[in-house]
Amino acid sequence: MTSRRAVLTSASALLALSLTAPLPATAAEPLRVVATFSILGDMVARIGGTHISLTTLVGPDGDAHVYQPTPQAAAAVSAADVLVMNGLEFEGWLERLSEAVAFDGATVVATRGIDPLAFEEADAHDDHGDEAHGHDDHAGYDDLGVHDDHAGHDDHGAHDDHAGHDDHAGHDDHAGHKDHAGEAHGGHAGHDHGAFDPHAWQSIANAVIYVDNITAALAQAAPDHAATFYANRAAYVAELEAAEQEISALMAGLPDDRRTVVTSHDAFGYFAAAYGLSFEAPQGLSTESEPSAADVAAMISQIRDEGIAAVFVESITDNRLLEQIARETGAVVGGTLYSDSLSGPDGPAPTYIDMMQHNATILSSALGS
Ligand SMILES: [Zn+2]
Repeated sequence: MTSRRAVLTSASALLALSLTAPLPATAAEPLRVVATFSILGDMVARIGGTHISLTTLVGPDGDAHVYQPTPQAAAAVSAADVLVMNGLEFEGWLERLSEAVAFDGATVVATRGIDPLAFEEADAHDDHGDEAHGHDDHAGYDDLGVHDDHAGHDDHGAHDDHAGHDDHAGHDDHAGHKDHAGEAHGGHAGHDHGAFDPHAWQSIANAVIYVDNITAALAQAAPDHAATFYANRAAYVAELEAAEQEISALMAGLPDDRRTVVTSHDAFGYFAAAYGLSFEAPQGLSTESEPSAADVAAMISQIRDEGIAAVFVESITDNRLLEQIARETGAVVGGTLYSDSLSGPDGPAPTYIDMMQHNATILSSALGS
């Protein structure tokens, strides 16, 4: 009895100590990791395995664009050793949350090092309301400085061939364009997106970069388990690469004239770039924006003009509009794509790899000849 009480007492003493003086994670205490949404959560779980305790803020079928943090979310972030986020202004609510709880752990921006896509596609749609859709929107692009930026890059290349002062001119140009982009952005108040498309996970090549960033951060936070994290990474990357091969083969088989897809919001820019498809959406990059009647009308004429055969609803969006568009155009609803969220365990996309395979499979069966 005496020895049992002694054990209990020393356990309480340890508990008290850990409450007052935060200790670095040890082998006995799993690293506390918060991932902002389900897709990241799945990747983090694959790397961290049993050595982490994971909280995912926006769970399966949730929409991270319009998420409102709960008190439980605040508590999880407050207690976290590592916070894994997508970045590219996907989680517009996160900065306020981590400031509110004075988060002092390590933050991993999973998109660090990817080659981000500019948001021009989505803003072309926003302009649909004002003028006939399509490439008339070039005027709008110029205002935004998006195209100017491209021109700027070309200029850079040209100037590099010259020496010295020409480079300076190039840099001044660049700074000027950034200001333009900033102003234009202010004009688009209410859009919860930045200069780049945040949906980078829709390319498996990018997912490998996400995984590398996550692995490095976990290894740094819990060096005792680094070898396990890197071993988990190697196994996972092999699966990702195998999935990439399958999906590439499936998408390569699509006929050239059946590669345009309509979805609710612009979440598939990276998928489109990786596999040679084209995605159109009445909503922009964020599910927060409401398409105007003119946007919808422009989408309907585009579907008719281009003979787009199938539209796809998304798991996270309100699909009544897309179903109406399908009825009016006679386009088939090809299925449900998972854009920004996994499904629950019994759905078709419980993991990131399942999600990518599911999307490729339904695209292939609806678009394949
Ligand atoms: Zn999205």
